[in-house]
Amino acid sequence: MKLTRRDFVAGSAAMAAAFPRGAFAAALPREAETVVIGAGAAGIAAARRIAALGRSVIVLEASDRVGGRCQTDATTFDVPFDRGARWLYNTDTSPVAKLARSAEVDLFPATRGQRVRIGRRNARAGETEDFLALLVRANRAIGEAVRGKPDMPAASAIPKDLREWAGTADFVLGAANTGKDLQNLSALDLVMMAQRDNAVTCRQGLGTLISKLSASLTVVLSTPVTRISWSGKDAQVETPSGTLKAGAVIVTASTNALLSGKLRFSPELPKRQQDAANKLSLGSYDHIALELPGNPLGLAKDDVVIEQSTDNQTGLLLANLGGSSLCQVDIAGSFGADMSSRGEAAMTAFAVEWLNKLFGADVAGAVKRTHATRWNDVPYVLGAMAAASVGGQPMHRVLMEPVGCMFFAGDAVHETLAGTVNGAWESGERAADAAMRRLGVLKALPSDAPAKAPRGREKRETISSAPEPRGLAWPSRN
Ligand SMILES: Cc1cc2nc3c(=O)[nH]c(=O)nc-3n(C[C@H](O)[C@H](O)[C@H](O)COP(=O)(O)OP(=O)(O)OC[C@H]3O[C@@H](n4cnc5c(N)ncnc54)[C@H](O)[C@@H]3O)c2cc1C
Repeated sequence: MKLTRRDFVAGSAAMAAAFPRGAFAAALPREAETVVIGAGAAGIAAARRIAALGRSVIVLEASDRVGGRCQTDATTFDVPFDRGARWLYNTDTSPVAKLARSAEVDLFPATRGQRVRIGRRNARAGETEDFLALLVRANRAIGEAVRGKPDMPAASAIPKDLREWAGTADFVLGAANTGKDLQNLSALDLVMMAQRDNAVTCRQGLGTLISKLSASLTVVLSTPVTRISWSGKDAQVETPSGTLKAGAVIVTASTNALLSGKLRFSPELPKRQQDAANKLSLGSYDHIALELPGNPLGLAKDDVVIEQSTDNQTGLLLANLGGSSLCQVDIAGSFGADMSSRGEAAMTAFAVEWLNKLFGADVAGAVKRTHATRWNDVPYVLGAMAAASVGGQPMHRVLMEPVGCMFFAGDAVHETLAGTVNGAWESGERAADAAMRRLGVLKALPSDAPAKAPRGREKRETISSAPEPRGLAWPSRN
């Protein structure tokens, strides 16, 4: 039976009324006005936006939980442990931070003492100053390097005289910031990245917050979408539990999940979008959590520690999280990816050895419970955060273009906040608006359309004036 749009909308509204709210595993309806694929920050934002307009929307999630890369483990340790994102940046403008009050969670400023270790001692004030000055020079050099010139690896743009700080600078500006080494990172993307200030954390966990924000939505768990047929007026969304017909589909799977082939498209995803996903692949970032009762490292609550290093085999320590005995060593970039591929025991051994080297304490003897994340192996995520490789900066906008009745969202689909929860959230809201315009729910406004990038725009790989490099302040990422 061919449904008119009016019938279809009425039918899906009736379905929504009959369909329970909340996250669960269940049989699927046959049709929905809008289907959102993925219940991470982008998917929840998109669905909330659509629901707020009084329209029906169903979220299909492959895993057995809501939150995606925002995941709080409330059982392994005595305090909630954020396995993925921990910091919400720019609280003044963060749409997620604004919603925290309604979700009845507490945000508190990241009061982070920042220390730099040189071997077993703290860097002296003058040494820390030298390092910070090097970072400022490196930031400026990256901005200058792409002014009027083609994009390049950020590593090629930074000064060559970083000496004993070379590995630290690469880690702080590249891997710890974006999950990618500077060699694999677009200098232009770093320049375009918004500054990450006023970070806060969530006492109950950022994963808990995102999960609470999904409470009023219909989220069907353990339902991987295997194929989307997108070229007709309506889409067919295939899952192992059945096929849904939808007027619009919002796809929030990570770029690495899109490239994995687990979700197929009929017809194939256009090469333009495939190339964009490739250029915006996810970097590697993991937490190695160690319970260290008795504070053997002698650090304060939420202290952040990095080390002077000539190579990239280094990490970032977050000590005594929220005043607890839980410490976290973060590893990232190519070194982090390599460690993670060796498994949890090797990761924990690295963290213990690294802390022993820096603090000379008997860390191994003090360690109680441990846990290491391995995001590169999480089946429907396959990495940590989206960041552009060389030539990839214009691709954020390519992924904003509608493809038939599909709209893409997620942490790759933002020009200045890519790789963050805020970026993912805003992209979800933008995709929802675009989907609602397609369905005639919102009036098409040229000014708020999710700007289809003019053809050829993606070829723009230079900037005519160098804005201040942003987002590179240390430490800019948990
Ligand atoms: C260790 C780590 C630390 C981080 N730290 C920070 C931080 O401090 N601050 C910050 O802002 N950001 C941080 N990030 C990045 C941030 O977590 C992500 O940018 C953001 O959460 C991405 O949200 P998303 O909705 O785009 O994607 P995701 O969270 O990946 O959500 C996509 C969802 O889609 C589902 N899915 C995929 N394919 C299918 C399919 N075929 N069918 C159905 N469902 C599917 C997935 O299971 C997933 O749940 C960190 C990330 C990691 C891993």
